[in-house]
Amino acid sequence: MKNLFFLYRTIILLLLFSCGESITHQNWKKGNLHTHSLWSDGDDFPEMIIQWYKDHDYQFIALSDHNIIADSEFWYTLRERDIKNKTLEKYQNRFGDWVEIKKDSVITSVRLKTFEEFKSKLEVTDSFLIIKSEEVTSSFEEKPVHMNVTNIQEKINPPKGQSVLDIMQLTINAVIEQSKKLNLKMFTHINHPNFGYGVSVEDIKKLNGERFFEVYNGHPAVNNEGDDMHIDTETMWDLINIHYYDKDKPLMYGIATDDSHNYHTLSSEHSNSGRGWVMVNSKKLNPKNLIIAMENGDFYSSTGIYLKTIFANKHRLFIEINPEENTNYEIIFMGYKKGSNEVAQLKKVQGTSASYYYKKDDIFIRARINSDAKKENPYKPHETKKAWTQPFIIQ
Ligand SMILES: [Zn+2]
Ligand SMILES: [Zn+2]
Repeated sequence: MKNLFFLYRTIILLLLFSCGESITHQNWKKGNLHTHSLWSDGDDFPEMIIQWYKDHDYQFIALSDHNIIADSEFWYTLRERDIKNKTLEKYQNRFGDWVEIKKDSVITSVRLKTFEEFKSKLEVTDSFLIIKSEEVTSSFEEKPVHMNVTNIQEKINPPKGQSVLDIMQLTINAVIEQSKKLNLKMFTHINHPNFGYGVSVEDIKKLNGERFFEVYNGHPAVNNEGDDMHIDTETMWDLINIHYYDKDKPLMYGIATDDSHNYHTLSSEHSNSGRGWVMVNSKKLNPKNLIIAMENGDFYSSTGIYLKTIFANKHRLFIEINPEENTNYEIIFMGYKKGSNEVAQLKKVQGTSASYYYKKDDIFIRARINSDAKKENPYKPHETKKAWTQPFIIQ
């Protein structure tokens, strides 16, 4: 009996090796890298926001307020809006004596907890990570230029530049410099390029050192899908990567984020939590390992679809979905081929898993997964759940 077992095991192992494939288990960690709180223009306390993500199966969160990193003493004065939303009441009900209030006859102020304080209160080793971040926010001739810095340690002031491109490059350079100085992994990502149509494909093409941008942002004002005059962010992504490939630059990766500001009213008019996130394949839950995985393109972006497997070897790319009930899926392989000037659809499969076997002239490919599942709280009416894998170059 024992001999038979070994025989079977040997046959199975031989089969696996002869195909050159063994699909290892992937450790997906769910996170949102773009969130606002009362430290800037969000409408809730950091702990309340973080608690929401913790309660909704996320493993990491970055609060990325505008031009601030929550490291100083800040007494927030309650406004009309907060009275209406019962913001303080909800905060006190959840966190009790932890809440610090100052009152005089006219105003009520609440001390916003610093990054170190809310991190030590809410972070849980190996299961929930809080990452320091800043949305470096400026504009050039009324064009918004916003860049998130994940795992920033020292605040970066928005640089003064001669153009949108100049401001972005100066921000990237400042982050590279800080990362070197502190010997710590951190990265910039370009926020919502179509917000106010501030950042163009031509700008992004000329950047050096940028690896990430938001292919999806859940704020209703950001125009992910473009308009009559402007292309959508997914088309932007492909044009940038054709250029980066031709210029020998590492490919750009696409991130999905919430960019949430509003935590009391849920609707397509508001920027709420839970609309877009990244799933990073990392065994360990710390900024360094997450960033290394993301820089390797070992993550996908989602607005509702969960993937079980993304597997690539020298022959094929294989995608397997973790399906929801009563949902139809479509897996689309997109690629850039030799002699072409666009990223085109290579194969489309209806179902919950699919493989694409590379052709001789394929240069880089990625997959988009569509579904007919409606989002519970869409960023635009009729929005359906999607996911995007990262592009990679076929050697
Ligand atoms: Zn922004
Ligand atoms: Zn933002």
